[in-house]
Amino acid sequence: MERKRVVVVGAGFAGLTVAKRMADGGHEVILLEKRAIFGGKCSSWQDEVGDSIESGLHVFFGAYEEIYDLMREVGIYENILWKEHVLTYTLNAGERFEFRTMRAPSPMHLLPAVFKNHYFTWAEKMTLSKALLPILFGNEAYFARCDALSYQQWHRNWGIADRMLSKMFLPMTLALKFLPPEEISARVVLDVAGLFLRQNGASRMGFLKGSPGDTFTGPLLRHLEGKGVTIRGNAGVRRLHTGPQRQLMAVELENGEMIQGDEFILALPVHKLNQLVPAVWQDEPYFQNLRQFEGVPVISVQLWLDRQISHIDNVLFNPDGIIPVYADMGNTTPHYHNSGNSRFQFVVAPARDLMHLSEEEIVQQVWADVCRTFPKTTPGARITKSTVVKIQQSVYWPKPGLDALRPSQASPIHNLSIAGGYTRQRFYDSMEGAVQSGNRAAAATLARLAGEAVSVSPTPRQVRVLQATPGD
Ligand SMILES: Cc1cc2nc3c(=O)[nH]c(=O)nc-3n(C[C@H](O)[C@H](O)[C@H](O)COP(=O)(O)OP(=O)(O)OC[C@H]3O[C@@H](n4cnc5c(N)ncnc54)[C@H](O)[C@@H]3O)c2cc1C
Repeated sequence: MERKRVVVVGAGFAGLTVAKRMADGGHEVILLEKRAIFGGKCSSWQDEVGDSIESGLHVFFGAYEEIYDLMREVGIYENILWKEHVLTYTLNAGERFEFRTMRAPSPMHLLPAVFKNHYFTWAEKMTLSKALLPILFGNEAYFARCDALSYQQWHRNWGIADRMLSKMFLPMTLALKFLPPEEISARVVLDVAGLFLRQNGASRMGFLKGSPGDTFTGPLLRHLEGKGVTIRGNAGVRRLHTGPQRQLMAVELENGEMIQGDEFILALPVHKLNQLVPAVWQDEPYFQNLRQFEGVPVISVQLWLDRQISHIDNVLFNPDGIIPVYADMGNTTPHYHNSGNSRFQFVVAPARDLMHLSEEEIVQQVWADVCRTFPKTTPGARITKSTVVKIQQSVYWPKPGLDALRPSQASPIHNLSIAGGYTRQRFYDSMEGAVQSGNRAAAATLARLAGEAVSVSPTPRQVRVLQATPGD
């Protein structure tokens, strides 16, 4: 195959993966990233005293596959520390419950955990039991139909207890996509719950040993450099320049510089891609369709404490406030050891109504939740440092009805592929989803260069405009 000049735009996990696959394929690759920091939604940077600040709490799941292949190829798989296979819920007034998995063939590894749970009554658990059948045995057609519903509608249609919605599934949907059950497609929750039930080990969670920059993105960038990839930070693209066949000819950087290429792969957040779509592509249903995608707001808070508040070395869920998922990284992450004191990282969601608050106000609300959740260890404790990161549009919003509109990585423009968590693959907007999208974008590009036919979806026939934004 002739060596091509491939321009990859966006250095999140999708763009980094694409860059590697295209370099592996023998092509000249230029990777352009708007920020000085790489890794996109899973990035980290150092503050003035050298502490790592992360864009958000990131957890690896046993169900992931392609990201582990990538990590093994780069020699960084050992940077994941797997935690005990248990889901721990922390509630107000120090109340706790957990789902502890067993060594047994699926779904028996998880079902006893659900039924032995002491927090829900037998009557409540029985309402869940019959709904487990479609989760376990539903086929693709069933899951596709469920995409028309919100998770809350599906839950109530099946008559599952409302307390299970508010105490068990609410933190799950908030942890998954930072959205409450009434705003998220049922399909997403059923897919994830089904995977956890069908596959032993799928729900096991792991953390990186240190910051994503030190333990993931940094080594991956060095690996790419070793393969001859040109990597440029502070290289935001502001315009796409097209040729007579509507093909992409060059991208224009914010400083006016033009970068030409034979092939282009745009690995941007979908709202950023929408801003760049040139006028000559606007009538293409593939691009019109993308305008229905938007990102979910989320806030990340880190707190350093003067003592140990939590002794748990794992992910923690909380249904009772604004911190649905969090971890004491002083326990989970060796590089974040804080002299035996707690160092928390919280996902704050739903964040829509909190985005306008000051950092102090957000930290106060988070701390109030921590005090309610750890009433024994918080009295007298002092926050020694706090950071707040707000992301206006983070992962794409999987609103009911949207799934059929997720685009293929192959695009209708003959020298363009796209990648990113929102594009079509099984793992939605996650680290695994981003890596899978990168692998598929590279595969589509390589197939096209080899003269093979690649299919573009959704086809114009499949495209339809969603009626209304749920939750409005
Ligand atoms: C708070 C939080 C917690 C999360 N927790 C988890 C988790 O526990 N587990 C999990 O699997 N996933 C988690 N995710 C999701 C995961 O981070 C994303 O799905 C994944 O990182 C998306 O990667 P991406 O490459 O598709 O997009 P991005 O990471 O958004 O990458 C896009 C890149 O494009 C760059 N860019 C934008 N505009 C331009 C431009 N004009 N020119 C050049 N470059 C541009 C951006 O700066 C960015 O680097 C979490 C996300 C958040 C926000």
